[in-house]
Amino acid sequence: MAILPPTSSSLSKDSSYSFSLHIQSSTIFGSKLKSGEFQQTRFRLFSNSNSYPGLTIKASRESLGLTQELKSNKLERVVETEDGSDLFEDMKHRFLSFKKHKYLENLEHYQNLAKGQAPKFLVIGCADSRVCPSTILGFQPGEAFMVRNIANLVPPFESGPSETNAALEFSVNSLEVKNILVVGHSCCGGIRALMSMNDEIDKSSFIQSWVVNGKDARLWTKAAASKLSFDQQCKHCEKESVNRSLLNLLTYPWIEEKVKKGILSVHGGYYDFVDCTFEKWTLDYKEDNLKEKNGRISVKSHILWS
Ligand SMILES: [Zn+2]
Repeated sequence: MAILPPTSSSLSKDSSYSFSLHIQSSTIFGSKLKSGEFQQTRFRLFSNSNSYPGLTIKASRESLGLTQELKSNKLERVVETEDGSDLFEDMKHRFLSFKKHKYLENLEHYQNLAKGQAPKFLVIGCADSRVCPSTILGFQPGEAFMVRNIANLVPPFESGPSETNAALEFSVNSLEVKNILVVGHSCCGGIRALMSMNDEIDKSSFIQSWVVNGKDARLWTKAAASKLSFDQQCKHCEKESVNRSLLNLLTYPWIEEKVKKGILSVHGGYYDFVDCTFEKWTLDYKEDNLKEKNGRISVKSHILWS
């Protein structure tokens, strides 16, 4: 048995329940998903100049002085889009617009932020360019400490140091955030990589070496959803991995202690950008359940924003 939030149709505001997953696509994914309905993200090697479609890096066309520039290693690279406009010119305008309309119009607020931060949230999201939590959930500067990694995974305490648990330590122990929100998403290339890899990982692959942190989610998914299509299994695993990450958060003693005392809450989220919906649920901490390690997870306040 594995665990997942209930489907959209069974969600109700502020409901409180425990549940386990039944191996039926309709109960796992709802009725909207069809096999092959969505495209998957593919990871590209950044050393390849084709890594960013639409982007080319061109040297200055001026031949005069080019040799000298090369020799002095000061060749100025101009990043252009295919239509020739300068991406950084666009970026400059965005920054100046932010400065004019956000920063200067809220000067006192930003000056206070310059003295320190007191975010209420730690958000753990995927590095995918389509799922920026600040964009989809509206976090403003100072509201959320954030770490983004491939497939929004939280490694267990025993896996050792990583940038993700460094962010956990700082935000929980120093900033004393009140909420941790792990956000999964549809069409996640990291989860697809996790589901695609062999049992024996390729240790030369940084991607595999990282996504293997989600191996429990993969195991539960394969056990519970083996009869589904591969795309549907990936969809299942996208949510399963969020719940596994919530359980992994509790392997950090200083997190479990705060959750147990009720001064820190742990939430899961799932952003589906195919139909633009967002599910949110909150871990209902039960020590007995965790000790049993039976794959069950209790959640409460499961809601769907659509
Ligand atoms: Zn992702």
